[in-house]
Amino acid sequence: MRLTRDICLVGGGNSGFNISAPLDCHIYVIDGGDEVAIVDAGMGGKYGATEQILANIAEDGVDPDKISTLLLTHYHADHAGGAADFHNRLGVEVLGSPLTIATLAIGDEEQISLPFAKSSGFYPADYVFESCPGRGTLTEGATFNVGELAVTVYETPGHSDGHVSLLVSGRDRTYLIGGDLIFYGGTIIAQNIPDCSIQNYAASTLKMAEVDFDALLPGHLTISLSNGKRHVDQAAAQFRQLMIPRNAV
Ligand SMILES: [Zn+2]
Repeated sequence: MRLTRDICLVGGGNSGFNISAPLDCHIYVIDGGDEVAIVDAGMGGKYGATEQILANIAEDGVDPDKISTLLLTHYHADHAGGAADFHNRLGVEVLGSPLTIATLAIGDEEQISLPFAKSSGFYPADYVFESCPGRGTLTEGATFNVGELAVTVYETPGHSDGHVSLLVSGRDRTYLIGGDLIFYGGTIIAQNIPDCSIQNYAASTLKMAEVDFDALLPGHLTISLSNGKRHVDQAAAQFRQLMIPRNAV
């Protein structure tokens, strides 16, 4: 689904548009013209829909041969579980924060709280977090180009450790690809897992409240193609009052 000249939404499950596997996060394509990057990978394996995502990419008129990289916002299975599929299928380089890549490299299910997610019934008991090599280059202030478009990395832990958000300078607007940082209405996803930190969540939100952007492209739920900053501002207002914003799910 092409959102703008710069961005396509090519995956997402029950927490959004149901265009790939039910548990998938939103999966975006950054279309920089002669170079393309995918952001987040969905669940992968038998609970994913990597072939469907690739078909969605082709349907949006994107040449798969131009896909150079897979960028990961964080290591949760609904975002990073499909990294191995994309790496094996397309030969793309996988980039994430150093912690995301170290976790993915050994398929560390404890680090991503997968046992909790399985025992709570959120994920199937036989789901396997496939390991995949990558490079941990997505660190605070890192900048790179995807074709014509510039991308800047912000470290935004809180929802999980090693979480990053990506600011994309598009042709007619700027986008914050926020992973699981902030959602519609200034909501968050804070879970009862070891690496979720309300203090880090607040610091990351307040940091992003200082950054200007037009569109908010979150990892789940509603997308705002303009005036997206209001969602971050709403969450920041709550944190400034020492409150915890409402959970999105
Ligand atoms: Zn997550």
